[in-house]
Amino acid sequence: MRTSIVRDLRSLLVVFTTSLCLVVFLVNIGLTQPTQNSANQGITFNDAHFHLTNYIQKGIRIEDFLKLMGDKVDRVAVFGIPLHQKWDYFVDGNRSPDYYLLSDTELYYYSLVDAMIAQEYLRLTPDKQKHFDPMITGFNPTDMYATAHILRVLRLFPGVFTGIGEFTIHKEFVSDKVGGHTASLTNPSLDRVFSMAGEIGLVTLIHCDIDTVRPTPGDRPAYFDKLKQLFKRHPETSIIWAHTGLGRIVAPRSNHLDLLEEILDDPEMNNVVFDISWDEVAKWVVKSPETAQSWARLINGYPNRFLFGTDAVAPKDSVSYLKTYQDYKPLWNLLDKDALFKVTVGNYRRVFDEAAAKVRVWEKAKLQESEARLDLPNADLIPKTVLLPQYQSS
Ligand SMILES: [Zn+2]
Repeated sequence: MRTSIVRDLRSLLVVFTTSLCLVVFLVNIGLTQPTQNSANQGITFNDAHFHLTNYIQKGIRIEDFLKLMGDKVDRVAVFGIPLHQKWDYFVDGNRSPDYYLLSDTELYYYSLVDAMIAQEYLRLTPDKQKHFDPMITGFNPTDMYATAHILRVLRLFPGVFTGIGEFTIHKEFVSDKVGGHTASLTNPSLDRVFSMAGEIGLVTLIHCDIDTVRPTPGDRPAYFDKLKQLFKRHPETSIIWAHTGLGRIVAPRSNHLDLLEEILDDPEMNNVVFDISWDEVAKWVVKSPETAQSWARLINGYPNRFLFGTDAVAPKDSVSYLKTYQDYKPLWNLLDKDALFKVTVGNYRRVFDEAAAKVRVWEKAKLQESEARLDLPNADLIPKTVLLPQYQSS
């Protein structure tokens, strides 16, 4: 009898000790296992859309920008602005314009911007470089030689660039100010750029307004269907559509989110994600509790397809740099935990890590032989479908 009581007490003790160890173990796991938040050590967001320089190619040194990022921002897709605002003395006199809305004179493509971005990046120690994904922007998307520019930049600065963009096709107040041929979604030169980006693995950040400034009559915005066709012609290219096509004046129609869903639901466009950068876009999204709720519903439903970006242009201080993020607070409050993490941090890593890895592989294998392709004399990168019928046979 006595021995059985002792035995029972012993087994109880064993059970108790084992449970205690288990509890201590679980508590330890809780403390040491990286959760989504602790793994990011206080990181608030990654920035998929950032301009280091402005419309007259002036900006902030990348070292100083790192200070603005602080411990809030981990990674940034960094680029200049491909267009330069001309200072025409006969029009503007001594009033030197540094923004496209400050002058009636033209914008022109400024390809040196890519070298400027590469140099800034290369000045950083490898430890600091890890925070940036530089992008090539200084090409004219209406020029059949745009692809040659991209190749040339990759050859001059191997190991630097992750993608191309932000480049602009249709943009309120900007498109018609650009000298030369107006960019369009049906220009074969654009297809060559998308094809080459797909082949190399460069992530492609395109700005194209969904509509004209005054909404086009009818239920389809002016540029939406042509843009979808472009996306569909390039399933191999990783595409980010900036601002979901919205702008300062180009407002979301009542069916804007349904239009986005046409892309999200189409398996032929799984390669397309949206950035919700720019405070001018945030203003539409958080315009009212209802608009914020509709956007949150869409993003919660497709959490892998949206990326946050600031669209800050050469910010002077951290308040102006963080403005877009702050503006979005009402949206952040409505996203579920998984979607919030993906939109602000996780999707950036997926899209840009994938692109960087592909580009490095391509550079190793193909960069040397790309010299011969610099002139790209033939049209082999143009899908026949975009050519006018009279050119389709040649
Ligand atoms: Zn931008």
